[in-house]
Amino acid sequence: MAETYRTKMLIMGSGPAGLSAAIYGARAGLEPIVVQGLQPGGQLTITTDVENYPGYRDVIQGPWLMDEMHAQAEKVGTRTIFDTIVDVDFSKRPFRLIGDGGDVYEGDTLVIATGAQAKWLGVEGEEQLGGKGVSACATCDGFFYRGKKVVVIGGGNTAVEEALYMTNHSDDVTLIHRRDSLRSEKILQDRLSANPKINVLWNKTVEKFVGGGDPEGLVGVDLVDTQSGEKSHLATDGAFVAIGHAPATEVFKDHLDLIDGGYIEVEPGTPKTKIPGLFACGDVMDHVYRQAVTAAGTGCMAALDAERFLAEEEFALIAAE
Ligand code: FAD
Ligand code: NAP
Repeated sequence: MAETYRTKMLIMGSGPAGLSAAIYGARAGLEPIVVQGLQPGGQLTITTDVENYPGYRDVIQGPWLMDEMHAQAEKVGTRTIFDTIVDVDFSKRPFRLIGDGGDVYEGDTLVIATGAQAKWLGVEGEEQLGGKGVSACATCDGFFYRGKKVVVIGGGNTAVEEALYMTNHSDDVTLIHRRDSLRSEKILQDRLSANPKINVLWNKTVEKFVGGGDPEGLVGVDLVDTQSGEKSHLATDGAFVAIGHAPATEVFKDHLDLIDGGYIEVEPGTPKTKIPGLFACGDVMDHVYRQAVTAAGTGCMAALDAERFLAEEEFALIAAE
């Protein structure tokens, strides 16, 4: 039997943005419900070392940080539910979300914090060899490549961190980047160039993931030089695609204004969408900063704005009586 849940503050997503909104919402007495989605805790659950989240002088682990945030949110009164939203109705309030088992979630206000998901190259062999040598998460799958030859594709923070992480498992890591300079932070670039286990191939893109063997697995990548057009082949046992993330907004595309490749449009400097009472925070609306601390910050802003929205509405009702 499908159930219906109702709250003053409904939150979609359980990453740093959603859980921070929940902590503030719960402490304001809004009895938030968080629908967690397929990745409880969000993107930080697929990484290891986090050393830029304020408050910890020593390196902490992403999954641990998210467990703590989750526990804190529940301790102050948040209800968290395992479900994934497959349909929405923002045409009237309360806003309605439909879970994949048919459960209905109704919120007087709604905070969308669905974050982002890994992007894929979309080249031949990538889908076919997914889970058979091709992955988008070194910290999840790196262990399977102990003592093997691996490549990491990309030039941002994620790619450099994944390459560094893979040196825990492999002495032969190649970073493949399409340009001749990285966009990752300098501290990571310094670590990369100081690591003798990592070789960088500049100005190369992967044209094809090549499978072989029985059962079939990745055996190499076909490369193209972005400057000369020259083609080459590199033998490898594992490939980690680390070319960024796309906002998780598929379910909203007919219901909200999306900009810049799918990010939710908000009033600049705020988490307010064009729909009164509906807020968006974290990576799903932020194509610039995309950090755990900024996601948490905008989650806090969304909860404060939701609280003010409800208070103003209540005040207007009383004044009208
Ligand atoms: P996310 O963390 O992406 O969480 C999104 C949530 O929404 C998830 O819980 C998901 O299950 C849920 N969701 C999605 N769709 C639905 C749906 N249909 N229904 C219900 N729920 C849904 N940042 C740093 O500051 N420091 C770091 O060291 C760092 N390291 C990183 C390492 C890696 C490998 C990656 C990928 C990112 C890293 N980042 C780091 C970036 C950081 O993880 C993100 O900026 C942050 O997690 C964004 O938080 P968020 O809450 O907006 O979204
Ligand atoms: P990103 O910064 O967007 O970098 C993506 C990289 O992949 C870029 O180098 C890009 O190349 C390359 N790329 C994109 N599409 C490609 C394609 N089709 N083929 C080949 N290469 C392609 O993404 P990210 O590294 O995942 O980082 C996302 C956000 O999370 C950032 O804000 C980042 O700071 C944050 N993050 C932070 C940390 C940390 O603080 N320690 C760790 C991880 C992530 P170009 O450079 O040529 O565009």
